[in-house]
Amino acid sequence: MSFINETHDINLKSWVASANQAGTDFPIQNLPFAVFRRKGTNEEFRGGVAIGDQVLDLAAVAQTGIFSGDAQVAVEAANAQVLNEFMGLGQTYWSALRLALSRALREGSEHQTTLANALVPQADVEYSMPCHIGDYTDFYTSIYHATAVGKLFRPDNPLLPNYKWVPIGYHGRSSSIDVSGQAFHRPKGQTKAPDADTPSFGPCKRLDYELELGIYLGKGNELGDQIAIENAENHVFGFCLFNDWSARDLQAWEYQPLGPFLAKNFASTVSPWIVTTEALAPYRTQWHRDENDPQPMEYLESSHNREAGAFDIQMDVLLETAKMREEQQPAAKLSESSFKHSYWTVAQMVTHHTVNGCNFLPGDMLGSGTQSGPEHEEAGSLLELSRGGKESITLTNGEERKFLEDGDKVIMRGWCEADGFNRIGFGSVEGTVLPAK
Ligand code: CA
Repeated sequence: MSFINETHDINLKSWVASANQAGTDFPIQNLPFAVFRRKGTNEEFRGGVAIGDQVLDLAAVAQTGIFSGDAQVAVEAANAQVLNEFMGLGQTYWSALRLALSRALREGSEHQTTLANALVPQADVEYSMPCHIGDYTDFYTSIYHATAVGKLFRPDNPLLPNYKWVPIGYHGRSSSIDVSGQAFHRPKGQTKAPDADTPSFGPCKRLDYELELGIYLGKGNELGDQIAIENAENHVFGFCLFNDWSARDLQAWEYQPLGPFLAKNFASTVSPWIVTTEALAPYRTQWHRDENDPQPMEYLESSHNREAGAFDIQMDVLLETAKMREEQQPAAKLSESSFKHSYWTVAQMVTHHTVNGCNFLPGDMLGSGTQSGPEHEEAGSLLELSRGGKESITLTNGEERKFLEDGDKVIMRGWCEADGFNRIGFGSVEGTVLPAK
């Protein structure tokens, strides 16, 4: 099965000059979606597509009438304060709009003059949540993260026996998910030191980030129906960067027996741009399960999933402390990893989530779980990098961290590269820790 089409051609250039610059996150082969308006105005938020350093205003495009058929239906649906309706239209419409946008933004397009008026510089816009996330489920798909964290919480029994059989997840909370730029107060709660007899109450002392991808569902399924693995990716609209902020001391006390609760639901941050599954086609890669491990049950197995079910999405995390900001120093890089290490694929997550008949709605989001790679330096959380708070990490300016301090800003970035294709990027997701209220 080939997912590559003319929109992925490395030779495509755009009449938007900044889209042709080496290293841009948003060349014409990407075309991710967000919801935006001009900064500091009362304009309605509406859908937009990134091209170079510009946003193509889909409300303005819809009014020009240059598209027709499915592409016009899609662009009209994307002219809204949330993209749920557009996401619910399904693959045929998403692809029609992507192709129409790709052709209209190419060098030599007859629509250049018309669309030039629909561009807004990214520097002049603000974003809101790209869709209403009705439900959010966080998975746990990095076996390296699960093992490292398991060791800290349960030294004798790091990886629980269900891990290699079940794509583990928990139902999270969507009300506290916000778009990049989120600033939140350090959470307070109950914690209990290992040597204490009783818990105490106060501000979290072990605040952490988690380097994840967010996976947005497009067309949903009826309650009671399952999504077969062969069909799972047709339901996946696209991917964003996702920071699942975590209060480790609250988590350690509250997590048994029902899993994460208040350690996770005080804030979570998504990047503004959703990179579509179609845009990611060139960066797909084989998925395999070690022959010594249990092989997936039949409902989680398919040849397509083996051949191309994984995505090589590279990600990194940077930390900008208050001192760095004051002294205008660059943020310090903490780690780098890739989603290709995931123990379970997106298709397996979607299929497993619906195997009991649970229904998805357009705009629902899955967290990938912290994407730690096989090496210690590739860990996607401070909990792992500081070995449970035992070792300080020295930043580029000499400051040290075991966990996050007030004023810290965490920045995550994502990008994809493959031979014979252009590099595409996700932009970034940023969030800042404020003192406890
Ligand atoms: Ca998580």
